Amino acid sequence: MSEPRLGYIGLGNMGAPMAKRLAGAAGGLTVFDVRAEAMAPLVDAGAAQAGSVGDVAAAADVISVTVLDDAQVRSVVAELAAHAKPDAVIAIHSTISDTTAVELAADLAPHGIHVIDAPVSGGAGAAANGQLATMVGAPRAVYERVKPVFKQWAAVVIHAGEPGAGTRMKLARNMLTFTAYAAAGEAMRLAEAAGLDLQALGRVVRHTDALTGGPGAIMGRDSAGPLPADHFLHGIFTHTRGLGEKDLSLALGLGEATGVDLPLAQLALRELAGALGVPHTD
Ligand code: NAD
Repeated sequence: MSEPRLGYIGLGNMGAPMAKRLAGAAGGLTVFDVRAEAMAPLVDAGAAQAGSVGDVAAAADVISVTVLDDAQVRSVVAELAAHAKPDAVIAIHSTISDTTAVELAADLAPHGIHVIDAPVSGGAGAAANGQLATMVGAPRAVYERVKPVFKQWAAVVIHAGEPGAGTRMKLARNMLTFTAYAAAGEAMRLAEAAGLDLQALGRVVRHTDALTGGPGAIMGRDSAGPLPADHFLHGIFTHTRGLGEKDLSLALGLGEATGVDLPLAQLALRELAGALGVPHTD
């Protein structure tokens, strides 16, 4: 099969480094952004500059879209749809509502155009190094077509399910990130009240999370419910529960001593056993 002709629309913080990694593609790359200055470095790297979104649709078989939000995605996809070839793939990499890709995919399927969602995690530095993770919502056959393309800028390419599943996975991923950021704020308030150096604490957190995997360390099972008693993780997580409840209780004690309110730590003490799949039975 001949190499796919690639298109890229939306060359901002994320799109520019992702597109740059496609600039040498065998089938060629055509780019477009409403900001002309965003296209210049891609053209220098060998991409063709389109004059409009529609021109990209006319020139490419697999089109990546990394504009900002739902409104921009809808506007770009509508313009692409008017010019795209049958069997073209439009991949949305923006983080948007989990229902938008589902709706756009259903609207354009009768025209033979495949709209898929493939949001990304890892930030602009990871995009430049080809180290992003992407969670792809696409029919299996379409996923197989785009995987080699996405592998140019992603180290981890996951088939999350049908269109929409990629975004639902991304929302769960980011919910964890930002919930943990709120907890980091609480830990910093406790550390500050206890007279500690917050820069040093941050260094320790980054180092040890890199060693253990952070919250992802407990995410090696197929169900969020209680673990069966004979599951290989049951004993390990029961031990983890004991350590966690001890340490959370000690931190809550330090909070009381230093006059710092720790609502997330209180919630964590209540929720930890269930999160580990080893709820208290009494
Ligand atoms: P950005 O605003 O830097 O980039 C968006 C680009 O789209 C801009 O260059 C803009 O000119 C262009 N654009 C807008 N409308 C257009 C149109 N009609 N035609 C052509 N180009 C158009 O945003 P960003 O930080 O790159 O984020 C893009 C998406 O990626 C967002 O949905 C964001 O949530 C997601 N995301 C960002 C990061 C990050 O670290 N920045 C990480 C993961 C996911």
